[in-house]
Amino acid sequence: MIRLKHLPLDSISVSSPYGKRSITVNNRYYWWHNGTDFKAPLNSPVYAVADGRVAAARYDDSYGYYAALDHGKFGTLYAHLSRLNVAENDYIRAGQIIAYTGSTGDSTGPHLHFEIRLSPYENFWDRVHCDSSVFMNTVDPMIFIEDFLDRESDLSLGEAIAIVQSEAGLEDKTMEYMARHYRYGEDLVKKLAKAIK
Ligand SMILES: [Zn+2]
Repeated sequence: MIRLKHLPLDSISVSSPYGKRSITVNNRYYWWHNGTDFKAPLNSPVYAVADGRVAAARYDDSYGYYAALDHGKFGTLYAHLSRLNVAENDYIRAGQIIAYTGSTGDSTGPHLHFEIRLSPYENFWDRVHCDSSVFMNTVDPMIFIEDFLDRESDLSLGEAIAIVQSEAGLEDKTMEYMARHYRYGEDLVKKLAKAIK
């Protein structure tokens, strides 16, 4: 089970999703996007999403300056960086600044290219399937980013009731009834609170 402990950037805004796409950058053609691109101004801090070891911190024509982290059962990769803040074999903690965003390699402007690979670093570059779900061990990073954001925004029932009640102006007994006696009422109130917040 992959569980991120930190986000790769302070703010998450997708500029290009994972999956099939056709682009040519610097005369190299790409038909599959191995990761998700996030908007980020030049030199934004990039954070390790979990504890691990720096398996690669180098330059590549496509990735530009990039870092690959080995988290044991899975790995993450951060590319097109302006500057690396770690060296190979460093042990890093979730939330540590490992690099700064840039536009090196095959990139058309500053952003972060972020990958999650379902393998330890030794098998990082192996291709297991060439279908729409797994390419070169990669998976859609947004599955795990969204899971992280969901956990972050988990509210207690009391907090959720307060948010919904203040917005909807409902009486205490109505709120109580909804939360305690409706079928799935607690989930419903929490969902409403998240939607309102
Ligand atoms: Zn990308």
